[in-house]
Amino acid sequence: MKLDAKMLRYLTSEDFRVLQGTEAGSRNHEVVPTPLISQLSGLRGGSGVHRSISNLAKTNLIAKVKNAKYDGYRLTYGGLDYLALNAHQKQKVVYSVGNQIGVGKESDIVVVAHETGSQRILKIHRLGRISFRTVKTNRDYLRHRSSASWMYMSRLAAMKEFAFMKALRENGFSVPEPIAQNRHTIVMSMIDAFPLRQISEVPNPASLYSELMDIIMELARFGLIHGDFNEFNILIKEIPIPDKDGKILDDTEPVTEENMRLEPVVIDFPQMISIDHGNAEMYFDRDVNCIKRYFKRKFHFESDVPGPSFKDARRNLRKNPGKRLDVEVEASGFSRKMARELEKYMEEVGANGDAEDSEGAGDDEDEEEQSGSEVEESPENEQSDQVSADVEESSKRLEGLQVSGSS
Ligand code: ADP
Ligand code: MG
Repeated sequence: MKLDAKMLRYLTSEDFRVLQGTEAGSRNHEVVPTPLISQLSGLRGGSGVHRSISNLAKTNLIAKVKNAKYDGYRLTYGGLDYLALNAHQKQKVVYSVGNQIGVGKESDIVVVAHETGSQRILKIHRLGRISFRTVKTNRDYLRHRSSASWMYMSRLAAMKEFAFMKALRENGFSVPEPIAQNRHTIVMSMIDAFPLRQISEVPNPASLYSELMDIIMELARFGLIHGDFNEFNILIKEIPIPDKDGKILDDTEPVTEENMRLEPVVIDFPQMISIDHGNAEMYFDRDVNCIKRYFKRKFHFESDVPGPSFKDARRNLRKNPGKRLDVEVEASGFSRKMARELEKYMEEVGANGDAEDSEGAGDDEDEEEQSGSEVEESPENEQSDQVSADVEESSKRLEGLQVSGSS
């Protein structure tokens, strides 16, 4: 297979260096002054740099900002996407970009392909986007927030998610395989499964329920609480069991426990916390209650025993401790300080994961999509104008980046 580099064809190598220069300048400057961009891109100033700047601005990879003191540019989410994708391509993690399958509150989910043709998932973290939901309460807060800090927080979210996915995977949990992380993105294996939210019937709700409670307890035994354990973040793999003649069920047969095994795969880790966290009990109970409530509503199943309590989880951890993955992740580079920064930001802007959706979902059991509408919501003030421009830009960029469909 030959590498289709269409997505990178837009930019000359000079453009690319100017884009990287703008990114480097964004670390210390909200608005990067043009002379600094020249300097950081390592190009001699003059018309070349200006031509590149204008190319990049035209394609919305950087945006001009007029500041009280000076004019300059900022990197857009589109520019950051571009840099991340370029890095993934260089490292041969991603060969081509396919369809976007999800627009979450805080992320975009895109199917990408490896050069072997196997499909993978690119998750692009976008922590700035939550302000759509919480625009009123956070208006003042967000007004003082720079786009650079959203990018930084999105990068922290990606680092955190990657570190936890890796630790969980290495310790036998059923999670996607983490493949790479770059900037605000991660690449992971694609799970051929639907979220629990989209499964209308299960042969034995009781057994799936207890399996999910076991996962919550097992996580706790390894020092962790998922923090957003709900029907959107649990994918259900359907694995047919062959009968004694080796035949597997066809579409006409009803699914039963004998012919189908359901295997939950857990995803979405940016809000994962340590069992020693100050609010651990609240998050633990919330995870347990999410599942209880959902099984009651959707499958009319209620267990005769109460779900596991935080005390049970603690006792379990004392008696039979697993490896402390909360500690391991800290040591792996996602430090406690980073965790605190990210947590504070997520709290302040009300990034509450998917749990809020499911709690408010009420009777709309047929409403299957969690994603979709946020991007179109009309902005209510200047600040969200900027967010919306960013999101639009990046959606456009992603369209532009489509190299070949995943079909
Ligand atoms: P968010 O933080 O926006 O909720 P998630 O990681 O939960 O993002 O992903 C959103 C949706 O994308 C999931 O509900 C699932 O349908 C799909 N998805 C995410 N990761 C994968 C994966 N590795 N394989 C298959 N589908 C996935
Ligand atoms: Mg999710």
